[in-house]
Amino acid sequence: MLEIRFHGRGGTGSVLASRALAKAAFYAGKHAVTFPSFGAERRGAPVVAFVRINEEPIYQRTRIYEPDMIVVLDESLLELIDVAKGLKSDGIGVLNSTKKPGQIKLSKPVKAWVIDANKIACETLGHSITNSVMLGALIRATDIVSLENLEQGILSVFKSKLGENVARKNVEVAEIAYESTMYGTTEGSRNYSDLQPWLPDINELPIGTIIPKTQVNGGQQIGPGSAKTRITGSWSNFKAEINQEKCIQCLQCMFHCPEGTIQQNSEELVVNRRYCKACRICGYICPEKAISMIKINGLSEIIK
Ligand code: SF4
Ligand code: SF4
Repeated sequence: MLEIRFHGRGGTGSVLASRALAKAAFYAGKHAVTFPSFGAERRGAPVVAFVRINEEPIYQRTRIYEPDMIVVLDESLLELIDVAKGLKSDGIGVLNSTKKPGQIKLSKPVKAWVIDANKIACETLGHSITNSVMLGALIRATDIVSLENLEQGILSVFKSKLGENVARKNVEVAEIAYESTMYGTTEGSRNYSDLQPWLPDINELPIGTIIPKTQVNGGQQIGPGSAKTRITGSWSNFKAEINQEKCIQCLQCMFHCPEGTIQQNSEELVVNRRYCKACRICGYICPEKAISMIKINGLSEIIK
């Protein structure tokens, strides 16, 4: 049985990709199951989707902890999440990155097929949804289904949701990706625990707060200060920007921002880009239309 774990972001097509792959396996005469896993947040939040493909019927319905393959649809996730966690020693990665395989750092060396999926998607589809590009790269990395079966899978799943023209365009980008993927081995020296420090000491807690350190399934720690591990600003390349000349300091945006990321200093209101997830609520609520969304150049602007 082949077990594949997709890492993407909500609203960027990783679930559709996993369904198209499962359908392709079906067209190849195999058995397949797929299901996603979402957190409480939706668009932009990291999501995973799982696919199992087998010659025989599949009865396992658990999450995949030790995949044979990982597929990473969003390059920023390589910096934030240990996507190689549990990957089998002979497992492979299919990674969206502008870098060469040897320039990518994961938690361990991974034999990887790498493609600049955003570039191909933007040039061919006119947007940066990378799911069908990554499927083309995935089929290059494994012969679990043929390119023809993949095209049938994409057409079947994308057509019902996005229409025939869009589905055919996605078949086209899968074909381009199949020819453009680069093979190599990643570096294995990234330490993700640096991104998950435990957590503030008693002096850093807000006054009056008594929240004990808590462990949930798998030993993961949650509790006060967990914002340090949930850098919601990494969910989008757009950030809210306040036009100080238009702003009348009514504070509506500050009270409505779900991330609490708008702060008032003595002179003006400022957005903490590290936590702005570009939900745009502040822009809708602002009576003076003083808030617009601006594009940043990359995560390095907000994550030091
Ligand atoms: S877009 Fe506005 S409301 Fe949404 S997180 Fe950013 S600052 Fe807050
Ligand atoms: S809602 Fe608009 S006008 Fe009011 S404080 Fe925020 S940016 Fe300024």
